[in-house]
Order: sequence, then structure tokens, then C-alpha cells
Amino acid sequence: ARQLVEKPIEVIENHLMNGMNVVGDLFGSGKMFLPQVVKSARVMKKAVAYLLPYIEASKDGKSSSAGKVLMATVKGDVHDIGKNIVSVVLACNNFEIIDLGVMVPPEKIIETAVKENVDIIGLSGLITPSLDEMVYLAKEMDKLNIKIPVMIGGATTSRAHTAVKIAPEYKETVVHVNDASRAVTVATNLLQPDTKLTYAKSLRQEYDSLREGYLNRSREKNFLSIEEARKNKFKIDWNNYEPVKPNFIGTKTIEVELLELVDFIDWTPFFQSWELYGKFPAILTDEIVGEQATNLFDDAQKMLTQIVLEKWLTAKGILGVFPANTINDDDVEVIASSEVEKFLTLRQQSQKTVGVPNIALADFIVPKEIGKQDYIGCFCVSTGFGVDEKASEFEKQLDDYNSILVKALGDRLAEAFAEYLHLKVRKEIWGYASDEVLSNDELIKEQYKGIRPAPGYPACPDHLEKPTIWKLLNVEQEIGVKLTESMAMWPAASVSGYYFANPESKYFGLGKIKKDQLEDYAKRRNISIELAEKWLSPNLAD
Ligand code: SAH
Repeated sequence: ARQLVEKPIEVIENHLMNGMNVVGDLFGSGKMFLPQVVKSARVMKKAVAYLLPYIEASKDGKSSSAGKVLMATVKGDVHDIGKNIVSVVLACNNFEIIDLGVMVPPEKIIETAVKENVDIIGLSGLITPSLDEMVYLAKEMDKLNIKIPVMIGGATTSRAHTAVKIAPEYKETVVHVNDASRAVTVATNLLQPDTKLTYAKSLRQEYDSLREGYLNRSREKNFLSIEEARKNKFKIDWNNYEPVKPNFIGTKTIEVELLELVDFIDWTPFFQSWELYGKFPAILTDEIVGEQATNLFDDAQKMLTQIVLEKWLTAKGILGVFPANTINDDDVEVIASSEVEKFLTLRQQSQKTVGVPNIALADFIVPKEIGKQDYIGCFCVSTGFGVDEKASEFEKQLDDYNSILVKALGDRLAEAFAEYLHLKVRKEIWGYASDEVLSNDELIKEQYKGIRPAPGYPACPDHLEKPTIWKLLNVEQEIGVKLTESMAMWPAASVSGYYFANPESKYFGLGKIKKDQLEDYAKRRNISIELAEKWLSPNLAD
């Protein structure tokens, strides 16, 4: 193509960019899908890299950009699949991207935004403490009188949180964008010279009324005091319950060949991470996304084979099973060989209809005063060792498609490892369900006895439980998985959680809690109320 045009830059400006515009339009109207966009972007990126030396030689100058966007995953958070996807999509729509990577401190975000004179700041985060980081950043930028619009995205972010907690802290526009296909429209609207003010104003109005509605609704909600909630706990008939004595007590590191994990992969979330929605395997024959889902699945299978055969990644895991009993309603006392630790659980406090309990995870463990020894387990597994190295190899080759793919597969293998290990725990290590026979589909539907809730998720949103797991299992020394200051696990492709064996145990959502429980919790955790507020902020009713 270079030899067919007069100046090499024409290949980019007249041909590649026109092509990308078509891709962008088709993506925006739902006729093309994310994997195709990311692959198209790869063609563009590689072509531009090839053409650049010729362009510089003929001094064509650079083509103009649609705007400069700073992208960052906030401090304490290590997840970047979503951020990278949005960066690729914006870049192929002619936005210039400054990607600061993951775990970016607020000072660095602000400093770079100012120095580079960016037009938009894109903040991303997956775990709940990142929400608070975003609020902090908004406050800081407001103090500095910065006037750059902010886009918010990532798994735990929401329009509601953006409206209620972030937008009021920043005079300039804040907008929630949780979908790569919307990112381009929003970014374009934010920068359109003749309409940007109207757009900003309408966003502000939308978020103001969203916030008012939200606050009014939450004022109407009724709550029980923590004492009342404890009285209405989930009751199990302990007199007729005999805890199953585990076949193994203590901690154990687990090694497994990646090949053994492949059958345990739940593919549905894999397609979700590429914004293809539908249940696997039906998605492969879906009328609308079927063809693209099939292509993506084929690429994934090829890479998975390489990951397994060429040992790109390493699976490392550790688990523990310990004697335990519930004390003071909400704490679980754990007897490890050299120490006694406590898991702190949080209790639902919103008023329920008659007969519906206010649950805490501690309800699933025999209370000490009953006089029966019960048990609890916990674990951490990772398949993330090697992911970052492979991903940056691909990035060096200007191949975002495969960089995102290897991260997504790393995540899938980590979840598969958690599933695999849970099965082993139920059938052998603890052995409370030694006669269980479930298909992979039934495993994915969580039809097993007992649960493995993960700190940071709805039943136990308190991330400060992770350090207790880390201490009990000596996770960092034994398998190398670290916790960031926000309690994100590094490498990102890691899963941790507890094991509850009780057949009546189930997943639930904590919902909002009141000040009395917060104060009680701060005392039990031995931290200040301010600190407790910071960690539990997404769950505070007032
Ligand atoms: N098959 C899925 C598994 C992840 S989601 C995948 O491959 O992505 C399901 C897991 O999330 C559960 O096994 C549990 O560890 C956690 N989980 C789900 N609901 C929960 C809740 N309400 N509270 C705590 N953890 C929960």
C-alpha cells in the first residue's frame, strides 16, 4: 500500500483510518464485536509501526488526534483487562492514549495529566477499595482546581456509585462508562467543541437526580440494631448436627498440572470479558454473536494448548483446614497449630420479612457454647505466575489481542483451580462429601454441598479478612501471592476464600450495615472507626 500512494502517511490517513472508522461504526451499532475490533486495532498498530520510519523520512508530520486520554488502574489494584480493552478501542478511534498501567498512585495520575495536558482521565478498578481511591482522586483534583473530565470504569464501579460518591467531589464532569463500545461515544461527546457544555450539563443533571433518588430510597429503608439482627440469625439445629471431622487438619501446598484444570474452566465469564454475552456452549451457535464467539473460542483453545504444553504459566496453591467455632455470634475462632486467629464476619442488618433471617457467615459454624468441635477451611490459588511476562511479550509485538487473551485465560485457569481444589477438599482432604458425583456443569452451577465464599464478595465484603488467611496459611512465603495496600491479590489471576462444610451454608449478600455494627466491628478488628469506615464504605448505610 505504501508504494501505491504518494506519501506514506496517506496509507494511514486515507485507508487505515477509514477502515477503522467503519469498524468503529459497526461496533457502535452492534454489528461488529470486541474481538474483531481488537484484531483490527492490531492490524492498524502493526501497519503504523511499519510506516512510521517512512513518514518520518518524508517529514509528513503526525496525523491529528481526536484527543489525549490518560488511562490508569488506580492505586492498590492490579486488574487491567477492562482498561486495556477500552484503551485499544479508543486508540482505534484516533484517540491518543497515555497508559500508566496498574497500581498507579494518585499523585502520578495528576502529575501526568497536567504535564501531558490530557483531555480526559480514564480510571479503572476491579475491587471495592478502588472505589474509595477514585473518590480520593476526585477530591484531590478538585482541590487542585483541575478541569479535566473523568471517565470511570471497572467491575465494581457503577453509575450509582459514580453519581453518589464521586461526582459530588469534583466540579468537572465525571461519567461512568462500563462498556468499551460506549467509551468512544462518551469520549467524543466530552470533547465535541460545540456540544460539550450541554453534554456535561445533562450528565450533571442525570447524576444529581440519580443521587437524590438513591439517598431518598436508602432513607426509607429500615434496619435492625446489630443486637436485634443477631437475635434473628440463621438458625441451624445444632443438636442434630455432627460436624464431619476432616481427614486432614493443617496447611498443605498443592501442585497441579495445568492440563488437569482445563476441564474445570467455566467459559461463560471468558466471553463476558470480551463483551460477548450468553451462556457457553450455546453462545457458540448464537444467531448474532455465534460466529465471533466461535472464532474467539478457537483462538483461546490454541493459546490454551500452548499455555499447557509450553508451560507458560505455573499453578500454585495452598489450603488449610482448622478446628473452629463461632464465638460472640459473629466471630469464628480458628485454632491453628501455633496460634489462635479470628475470622470476623458481618451480619445483614436490613429489616427482613417475618421468618427471613439476618445472616452472617458465622451462622454456618457451630457456636462454641454448644460444645461440638466444628471446622473451617481457607485457601489461595494462583495461575498468574508468567501471565505478565507473556502479556508484555505480546505488547512488544504490538499485539494487544493476544496480550488480553493470555490475561483472560490466566483468570479462567485460576477460577478453574479454585473449583478443582474445592472438589478435592470436599471429596478427600476434608472429605465431608466423599460420595459426591457432579458434572462440570453442576459444579459451575454451585450444586455442591458447602460453600467457598471469597473475601471482597457479597457475603463477606471485608477485604481485611485476607491478611488473616495470609497469616494462617503463610501464603506469601509458601506460594508467592502478595496482597497490595488495597488487598488485591498479585498476580491478578489468583483466587482466595474460605471453605464452609455445613450443608445449610449458602451464598448471600450482606447489603448495607449501620453505624452500630461498624463501631462494633472496629472494636473487634482493633482499628479506628475511620479506618473501618474506609474499608467498609461500599456497605455503609449512613
Ligand atoms: N465459575 C465462576 C466462579 C466465580 S464466581 C468463574 O469461573 O468465574 C463464583 C464464586 O464467587 C464462588 O465460588 C464464591 O467463591 C464466590 N461467591 C459467589 N457469590 C458469593 C457471595 N455472595 N459471597 C461471597 N462469595 C461469593
